[in-house]
Amino acid sequence: MSDLYLSNGVEQFIIDSCKRNNFDDDETELLLRPSRQIQVELPIRLDSGKIRVFSGYRVQHHNARGPYKGGLRYHPTVNRDEFTSLACLMSLKTALVDIPLGGAKGGINCDPKLLSDYELEKLTRKFTEKIHQNIGPNRDIPAPDIGTNSKVMSWIYDEYSKIYGISFAVVTGKPLWLQGSCGREEATGYGVAHIVESYLNFKKIKGPVNIVIQGFGNVGSYTFKYLQRKGHRIVGISTSIGGISNPLGLNFTDLHQYYAEKGSLLGNGFGTEVSADETLTLDCDILIPAALGGVINEDNAEFIKADHIVEAANGPITYKANNYLLERGKTVLPDILVNSGGVIVSYFEWVQNLQNYRWSKGEVLKKLEDILNITFHKVMQSSLDNKICPRDSCYKLAIERLSEAYLGTEFL
Ligand code: NAD
Repeated sequence: MSDLYLSNGVEQFIIDSCKRNNFDDDETELLLRPSRQIQVELPIRLDSGKIRVFSGYRVQHHNARGPYKGGLRYHPTVNRDEFTSLACLMSLKTALVDIPLGGAKGGINCDPKLLSDYELEKLTRKFTEKIHQNIGPNRDIPAPDIGTNSKVMSWIYDEYSKIYGISFAVVTGKPLWLQGSCGREEATGYGVAHIVESYLNFKKIKGPVNIVIQGFGNVGSYTFKYLQRKGHRIVGISTSIGGISNPLGLNFTDLHQYYAEKGSLLGNGFGTEVSADETLTLDCDILIPAALGGVINEDNAEFIKADHIVEAANGPITYKANNYLLERGKTVLPDILVNSGGVIVSYFEWVQNLQNYRWSKGEVLKKLEDILNITFHKVMQSSLDNKICPRDSCYKLAIERLSEAYLGTEFL
């Protein structure tokens, strides 16, 4: 077996699933190893006049089912190993929801909060200049992730189009005026809320339920908005610098407005202040980590009070913590199902761009729900039939599809 290490338990989840599916070591290794790992150095002159060199990465895991697809993350701690496991998760996700795309991930080791817009634009354009031969509408299609947004996507689109001509389909998550898709911005959070509601219905759990969310970025904030709209109580929410809790429930509009003005959830008087880590152990029915990977681990798993953990972030629970939570009778709904709304609507954006056509927001969200419903029911049925947890069921379905494409078509 390879000495490759996929972080946050992804490698171990895959190995376990391959064993259950009677794959041999070589077939398992085929699924673990990415097909390409790119690292580029990105020197830029800062506004201060100083030169700084950042590192850019793109890991392309697998494209036997379609072009590579995955987000770009701008964060100071990113590294190649982390992108490798996130790229692998993307391959599993696109296979699970059965869209014709593969998996990739990448980004730059920078803190976007400490860079001006002009510096970010220079850095993004330099990154595109260095990797343009490896991306493209039929090759690899980046999208936003932590620390990136529609503006970053529009710079990549522009830089790429200077070389290849107008190419809207090179990135997704673009602004609407640049042929982005209606519904893309809210897609991931909308999908998370839809999966939570489907799960409650499936388990015949009557709402309203008490929910805590870690993260108030794109995914966390839209998850909050749509779960509140479905009548549930959000009793805790945090960003990286802390957040608030209130057992009577928090109001999305108040918090959204406050956050837009102050850039923080602290000092608003809507509840008791809590640290980002404390949010995870608050009393609630459902806990939704929607920020970084590995936040639920051996150190804090025993303190998690929620009975149901819904992974909106990628890889928020480590392998050991996951097993410990299952032993304690908790249910975990895994990332590759829960946050798949983002890549599904990214797929819709790509399809619309390739056809030079636009769908309404209603059409997009309806098509999104259709794919989520089919996938959710397949996962839960296979979980019952095979007596396995939802994560194992997702991995089983995804790995069967991936290996069918890899081995069945002999793309070796
Ligand atoms: P974002 O940058 O918009 O927001 C991230 C949020 O996490 C911010 O509120 C930030 O303050 C918070 N955060 C960062 N570090 C934290 C910490 N240590 N403790 C608590 N909070 C912390 O990013 P996003 O797009 O919302 O992505 C969040 C997660 O969802 C990531 O794991 C990402 O990979 C995953 N995801 C995103 C999408 C998408 O469409 N954006 C799709 C699928 C999965």
